[in-house]
Amino acid sequence: MIVLLDRACTLREKTDVVRLLEQEGYRVSVAPLGEETIVGILGEAAAGLEDRLARLPGVRRVDRDVPPYALVSRALHPEATTIRVGDVTIGAAEVVVIAGPCSVESEDQILTIARSVARSGARLLRGGAFKPRTSPYGFQGLGEEGLRLLAAARDATGLPVVTEVVSPEDVDLVASHADVLQIGARNMQNFRLLAACGRSARPVLLKRGIAATLDELLHAAEYVVTHGNPRVILCERGIRTFETATRNTLDVGAVPVLKARTHLPVLVDPSHAAGDRAWVAPLARAAVAAGADGLLVEVHHDPERARSDGRQSLTLPGFDELMAATRRVAAAVGRL
Ligand code: PEP
Ligand code: MN
Repeated sequence: MIVLLDRACTLREKTDVVRLLEQEGYRVSVAPLGEETIVGILGEAAAGLEDRLARLPGVRRVDRDVPPYALVSRALHPEATTIRVGDVTIGAAEVVVIAGPCSVESEDQILTIARSVARSGARLLRGGAFKPRTSPYGFQGLGEEGLRLLAAARDATGLPVVTEVVSPEDVDLVASHADVLQIGARNMQNFRLLAACGRSARPVLLKRGIAATLDELLHAAEYVVTHGNPRVILCERGIRTFETATRNTLDVGAVPVLKARTHLPVLVDPSHAAGDRAWVAPLARAAVAAGADGLLVEVHHDPERARSDGRQSLTLPGFDELMAATRRVAAAVGRL
């Protein structure tokens, strides 16, 4: 059940609604969405509760039959959510490009790449410090040292930093260095991690699971929001299908469908969909044409020697070309 409060409701009225619910033993989530406030009642609600709530001052509407992902749904909150990170706004007119290596490997590597992608027009820097690798023998990332190098690259370039967190225990550590917490495809339904990121003050970039439906992605986003963090950015990164010519199959249709179902910003990662740098730019153009709010792109100054995902990483000049093409497509669809 959810309670929609009046836009003009007072703090006192809001507190009274929450107090009544908590006194009766309900777990509630209070989500400020734009100028509105939605109070979600988690779990089963007793008969008659909606009538009692509807009588309270400041309450606009009480809904028992809510979409399963009420807080992220467009139906209840038609305006698009924009998420500010540093001086960048994600989900507004600008197509925001996040670029950087798959993994942070050294100070030299991350600084070289960060400076170059910034010159080409990237607005945020990506780079993995904790890497979820398919093989236990693969490079697992530099861990905390990688986080420090990312923070140094932010200081050198001004680009806010996006990096993955793979375990609930690491959320505070990662949040103390990074500007955005990435939840990877393999962890999209790691509910304890979703909850831990929901308790963080940092925005969350939530990637679609390798075999997850859009409904499951939206439910996962709802977990983050119900735990107190409304700043969620979704990311389509390709799904597993029978096709093996690309690493994953980019679901371009996910972009308009998600934009219709949710008010959250939607990004596309063409790199993990492509698996090969040859296909990254065309997939990026398709994503922007389909209405993506931004891109997450892997870039490396020496992809042949990258410690992870070199094959799909664009070279520095390759990324510069992608940016030029992306700008043309963005302009053609009325974006910046
Ligand atoms: C990544 O962004 O480096 C990554 C591991 O992506 P995904 O979780 O989509 O596989
Ligand atoms: Mn990668």
